[in-house]
Amino acid sequence: MQATVYKSTGNWYVVKSSGGEWFNARLLGKFKIDGLTSTNPIAVGDTVTITMENEGEGSVTITAIEDRKNYITRTSPANKYQHHIIASNLDQSLLFATLKDPKTSQGFIDRFLITSEAYRVPSIIVFNKSDLWKKEKEQFAALKDMYEKIGYTVLSMSIEQQDGIAEVKSFLKDKVTLLSGHSGVGKSSFINIILPELALKTQDVSGWSGKGLHTTTFAEMFDLPGGGQVIDTPGIRELGLVDISKQELSHYFPEMRDRLGDCQFNNCFHTNEPGCAIKAAVEDGAIHIDRYVSYCNIMDKIEERKY
Ligand code: GDP
Ligand code: ZN
Repeated sequence: MQATVYKSTGNWYVVKSSGGEWFNARLLGKFKIDGLTSTNPIAVGDTVTITMENEGEGSVTITAIEDRKNYITRTSPANKYQHHIIASNLDQSLLFATLKDPKTSQGFIDRFLITSEAYRVPSIIVFNKSDLWKKEKEQFAALKDMYEKIGYTVLSMSIEQQDGIAEVKSFLKDKVTLLSGHSGVGKSSFINIILPELALKTQDVSGWSGKGLHTTTFAEMFDLPGGGQVIDTPGIRELGLVDISKQELSHYFPEMRDRLGDCQFNNCFHTNEPGCAIKAAVEDGAIHIDRYVSYCNIMDKIEERKY
């Protein structure tokens, strides 16, 4: 029987069969996937084959994993050079950001976009808390312009004033979307709006408001009432930028990608080399200077092997 993984705790998994039945699943033995041997090789979003263990008990064994369309990893908290697959088979990723209380840095946004590019997952950026904006309105307009020119969708929203929520929801319909963002941006508030049943359930169990909802640090997928799924990654502040080399970084900047063939040297890092098409495009404004600054900052970090 085919099933989709909705939750992974590291030891067992919650899966939903193609027929819509829920099971607790476990793995027998070690699996080797994507060249990685891991004790926790299965990610939320995986399509798996399941076999009944004990008829009637509702528990099953995972016997095979389908090839993944894509996947996203995070760096291990214990070891920067190790990565765990947190979710797979994504249609898109949605980053929650804020311009105030707290402010999301552009570096953070760009690292997120680059990671998504590296894993071939299209991204949407949602700036929440628009009710707090004064001079930030102009900042938003500038950021929207900059990111939309290079192909990203940028939205604004105020959960507080219930403004723009329907538009964000419309982008989630019938898609598998990874929700991401550093703490304080309103991700939990948004999940409580789009999954009211989940919040109610939590209330029932814990007896108090939705607060206890996202204490786990494991990714979990939820079905949206209107079709589609979201994957929440509580406790994961930043996705991993592992394995990106200095040479390939520019490939993950869409506005650089098409110009790479125009540099004088084919191994150009676009920093100090003569005849660099990227630097020329920055100078004439075709590539935004702030994006180039992000590029240089990440290059420095790769140099220091921070990723
Ligand atoms: P998370 O850490 O991203 O899950 O953020 P939360 O959903 O816990 O929200 C963090 C804080 O921001 C809470 O105090 C929310 O009430 C507040 N908040 C969420 N959305 C908005 C908004 O649109 N405007 C304002 N002013 N505050 C918001
Ligand atoms: Zn160059």
